[in-house]
Amino acid sequence: MDIEASQYHTIKGRKYKIAVLSGDGIGPEVVGEAVKVLKHVGDRFKINFEFKHALIGGAAIDHEGEAFPKNTLETCQASDAVLLGSVGGTKWDDLPGEKRPEKALLALRKGLNLYANIRPAIMYEALKGACPLKAELVPSGFDICVVRELTGGIYFGERGTRVNATGFQEAYDIETYSTEEIRRIGLEAFEIATKRNKKIVSVDKANVLESSRLWRKEMDILSEKYPEVTLEHMYVDNAAMQLIKNPSQFDVIVTSNMFGDILSDEASMLTGSIGMLPSASLGSTKLGLYEPIHGSAPDIAGLDIANPIATILSAAMMLRHSFELYDEANAIESAVEHVLKAGYRTVDIFEPGKILLGTIEMGNQIVKVI
Ligand code: NAD
Repeated sequence: MDIEASQYHTIKGRKYKIAVLSGDGIGPEVVGEAVKVLKHVGDRFKINFEFKHALIGGAAIDHEGEAFPKNTLETCQASDAVLLGSVGGTKWDDLPGEKRPEKALLALRKGLNLYANIRPAIMYEALKGACPLKAELVPSGFDICVVRELTGGIYFGERGTRVNATGFQEAYDIETYSTEEIRRIGLEAFEIATKRNKKIVSVDKANVLESSRLWRKEMDILSEKYPEVTLEHMYVDNAAMQLIKNPSQFDVIVTSNMFGDILSDEASMLTGSIGMLPSASLGSTKLGLYEPIHGSAPDIAGLDIANPIATILSAAMMLRHSFELYDEANAIESAVEHVLKAGYRTVDIFEPGKILLGTIEMGNQIVKVI
């Protein structure tokens, strides 16, 4: 572990402590570029960022014998935010489930009590060609933010198998949501919506599920406190269809764990590139976890060809959500847009006629614009 502190004492009068968990595969490469960008933002805006590195995933298994060592959790808990790369790889694929690198992800989210997963899906003008939809369906692009409940619902409910009354084996997974769980994710979504286009679609299956009916009722109660935000309810099957038919109609989508799992993947695929998409996981404090949505991409690790933009945009989300450094977050996001407009591309988003860059050069171009 090492500590690198920028020499500035910020005019905002505080130090921002960032735990850096690079992980495996392309993790260290893309996180390296995000840290480079953050250091540059620190210099440019006179902000004091302190980076503390810790091991996670396969790298932690190799060095410390477990995917999520106690001191990694302690480093995260003692920080203001966590920047994560990705974990996993073929080297650890034969380990039993509970010993695998990916196990660290659940432990990390649980250890930091992160219950809200925020995933923006933005179609950049410069990357229009990567969208799998017909151009006439997305004439003005889209900018969707999916707010997914992360620690409740069917993925965490009671489950099991049993023999039923007629002698057949059956399996069950129970979806449970308390008003507390619904309110806190709803609150997160409404707060985010107030800073965007003030429009929320709450996705449920209230025509069938009791848990969805409670979800809908609580969202209605919350909306009374946010008269400036328009709340609409939509059934999940319709939402899946509307995302394909007219994605531009969405601003913020708030939904349960399982529906969010599915819809956030659908929304991200509309942008056409996994290397571009950041995410944040938030809880009741400002301490959040920021990571690209992609995995460790062992097939391209170490080749300096991975797209670092998803991780760099995750760092921008950190500045906005954990540190409330809005100008600084905007500076990173505008720089990414500018670099794309100028025609710079990593191989995953490359089109003929554009300028091909490696991971490090893409980071350098973004730094240059900031
Ligand atoms: P993946 O996201 O790692 O890769 C899928 C495909 O996308 C690959 O072809 C890869 O080369 C490409 N890709 C991914 N990120 C890219 C980037 N930044 N730039 C350019 N191309 C990129 O998914 P996978 O192959 O299913 O999983 C690989 C490993 O990652 C597995 O061990 C899996 O368990 C793990 N994983 C980890 C996380 C995480 O850490 N949060 C998430 C998903 C998968």
